[in-house]
Amino acid sequence: MNRRNFLKAALISSAGVGSLLLNPNQVSARGIPSRAFPGIAKDKCYRSPPQGVIVTSLTDMFKIGPGPSSSHTIAPLRISSNFRTALEGLPKDVMEKAERIEARLYGSLSATGRGHRTDRAVLAGLLGQKTETCDTKLMDELQDTTKKYTTVINGKSFTLGKDTLVWDKVEHNYPFTNTLIMRLIGKDGSALFEREYYSPGGGFFQWKGQPAPDRGQPVHRYGSMTEFKRLAKEKKKSLHEIMIGNEKAIMKTGDKEIYAHLDMVLKTMEGGVKRGLKEEGLLPGPFEMHRKAKRIYTQSLKAKSGDRYMQQVSSYALAVSEGNAAGRLAVTAPTLGSAGTMPAIVYVMKNHMKLSRDAMRKGLLAAGLVGFLCKNNAGIDGADVGCQGEIGVASSMAAAMIAYATGASLEATEVAATIALEHHLGMSCDPVGGFVVIPCIERNAFGAIKAYNAYLIATSEITSQHWEDLDRVIMAMLETGKALPPQFRELGTGGLGVTMVDC
Ligand code: SF4
Repeated sequence: MNRRNFLKAALISSAGVGSLLLNPNQVSARGIPSRAFPGIAKDKCYRSPPQGVIVTSLTDMFKIGPGPSSSHTIAPLRISSNFRTALEGLPKDVMEKAERIEARLYGSLSATGRGHRTDRAVLAGLLGQKTETCDTKLMDELQDTTKKYTTVINGKSFTLGKDTLVWDKVEHNYPFTNTLIMRLIGKDGSALFEREYYSPGGGFFQWKGQPAPDRGQPVHRYGSMTEFKRLAKEKKKSLHEIMIGNEKAIMKTGDKEIYAHLDMVLKTMEGGVKRGLKEEGLLPGPFEMHRKAKRIYTQSLKAKSGDRYMQQVSSYALAVSEGNAAGRLAVTAPTLGSAGTMPAIVYVMKNHMKLSRDAMRKGLLAAGLVGFLCKNNAGIDGADVGCQGEIGVASSMAAAMIAYATGASLEATEVAATIALEHHLGMSCDPVGGFVVIPCIERNAFGAIKAYNAYLIATSEITSQHWEDLDRVIMAMLETGKALPPQFRELGTGGLGVTMVDC
């Protein structure tokens, strides 16, 4: 059906739609009845909300670590650190036969790992660094590929350097695009011990044959926003009560630890904006890329009020994203490529709106909920679903955060998240040269502006009149992401990754 016929059909059947307006008390996902669109194939419709129970923790979602990419720096650093710990547990007779350590990178890790500093992250983890406390100066030093580093693991001395890494196949048959095989190699060249690790996005990692982590079960079981709303209504609980209840049960922890982590996340985000607004000059990398956050913020002080606000929100996002590109500590929200979007809104909430710490924490919990749903039901990695899963999800999380923190209902919070995600659908991931610079840095500014606009629309409109719901938009993101060709999913070999480079 062409566009004209489609509109005609929709017009003819509009009376049917009008009689089916949303019920304001409804919690289940609801779409437009198919009879509104005669002629459209009946199998082209939404069947049901996603299934399954979410067991993701807030500490999984909001991880602090060095930039520029959660899947390419935080996860590889955590992986090599985990491998180091595993070697510490090996019998002495195995270690005595060992000669070297090998890190074999596949998929996007191999294709864009140099640009994303994966090599430095792997070496840092093997040298004993941890993500949250990582010495970013050491990370800078590791860029010198002529240097060798010595480390002692389980009584055995190893020399590490550029030869530790093997940039293997980009296309492969491992179950995850970003695969990293770590090996302990013996004097005869055989593998004495190895682990096949995966980096599925957002700084998460897992390995083949990994035993189930020692975690509890959520007290509030949901797999979709539809179920979450039903749960909240039935149990008469608020969003933040459900989130805190589940976090305590899953992580077997208490309020104090949870709030300490949330406060650390908020502090790191705010600190990233403050530091980034002071920095000037070139970003590290193979081409000339000037920082601009400080300049835009300075210009904003002379601008008219509307322009000033837009410039300032943009400058906050740019400040953190530029810092991330320079390898500074940032928070996965949901990834490091999108690490500037939420901090821009956090900065607005704290410094423009003067929200209380309690409100900020509640907002962060709402952002966490959106991140959980997107991660579990679609994806949050450019290598899986394109940039819609990074900047799109970040924008959606930020929109939910500010809406909920400012007192919006659960329904309006959902609408804010829905609008922000919906208007990032289809966005490809095409980092130039594999660096999280172009288009990534500016995209964070646009993610933040869209988040703010989504919040304004959601908290101004009548939410019961809003058709789209979050579950459906997440499913659309998944479907769109699956349809994106590999060159538009972080390989840096499509879109701007090609057109920005001269032959
Ligand atoms: S284009 Fe988007 S998804 Fe891709 S690396 Fe940049 S921020 Fe991440």
